[in-house]
Amino acid sequence: MISNRLSSPSTLIRCYSSTRIKEGPGLEDFLAAGGNASDAVKRHEDKLKLEKGDKRLRLPPWLKKEQVFASENDNVKRLKKQLGKLKLSTVCQEARCPNLGECWGGGGEGVRDESIATATIMLMGDTCTRGCRFCSVKTSRAPPPLDPLEPEKTAEAIASWGVGYVVLTSVDRDDLPDGGAAHLARCVHQLKEKKPELLVECLLPDFAGNLENVQLLARSGLDVYAHNVETVEGLTKWVRDPRAKYRQSLAVLKHAKSSNPRLLTKTSIMLGLGETDEEIRQTLRDLREHEVDVVTFGQYMQPTKRHLLVREWVTPEKLVGDSNY
Ligand code: SF4
Repeated sequence: MISNRLSSPSTLIRCYSSTRIKEGPGLEDFLAAGGNASDAVKRHEDKLKLEKGDKRLRLPPWLKKEQVFASENDNVKRLKKQLGKLKLSTVCQEARCPNLGECWGGGGEGVRDESIATATIMLMGDTCTRGCRFCSVKTSRAPPPLDPLEPEKTAEAIASWGVGYVVLTSVDRDDLPDGGAAHLARCVHQLKEKKPELLVECLLPDFAGNLENVQLLARSGLDVYAHNVETVEGLTKWVRDPRAKYRQSLAVLKHAKSSNPRLLTKTSIMLGLGETDEEIRQTLRDLREHEVDVVTFGQYMQPTKRHLLVREWVTPEKLVGDSNY
């Protein structure tokens, strides 16, 4: 379950302690972090919505920022070397995230603090059995077998980073009888064994709707059970792989919560794919009915020309204005 969106959930909440997860930062905190968003919106002279005949939309100024070049940063080099040696994949690299230099380098603009460098490890390899139309992760019907040492190696790497909050994500493995649930649960166990105080968020597959696998993960010791609905119901079949269904994702989130009510459940929605405001409101109502605790929004960014076009740049003002759904 990987998404191409600016401001990944891992980036947003990486530094928050357990007591602060529930209080968490609001939307304004993230918008303010990028400078004066309303000025940037005023300066934007191009279209915000794709119209018939348009090839693509130009990147608006509020999404442009000074790039931290990954190749120039020592912390980035160190992380790359360590992850390469342990043969661990990261969503940052596989999803070609434009923020890699910033996250791995430690801190945001003007900040260089190695202790807050974050990389989101992608479990179960770098190849997914699904092919969502917004995602640039490699796909194959038969990816290589799981690395049995991955849980131990992941725990070793993360424990050495000195972070208090980690986000693990994974590809979907429909080729495995349990979708990789036991392997993922082992990763959480190993991490909690090495560092019990570490808060662990896992962004998990839908396990093809198998609720036993959902329950196994919900009771594995993780703190935040994340599974992305990615988009509104009406766009799901255009955006996600046909095996990923909106109602199935809602059922997964609800079952995770009922299997372990102490968990926080979380989902993310990409904006800018052509959804309407009413569809977003309906999605939020659905999520509430399914007891989802946290919802994050992200602007969809087209990773390559072969992927879905951005249909709309959602302005920061619109996000703030519509945040009282
Ligand atoms: S299921 Fe696979 S293709 Fe779809 S978003 Fe997740 S990693 Fe990408």
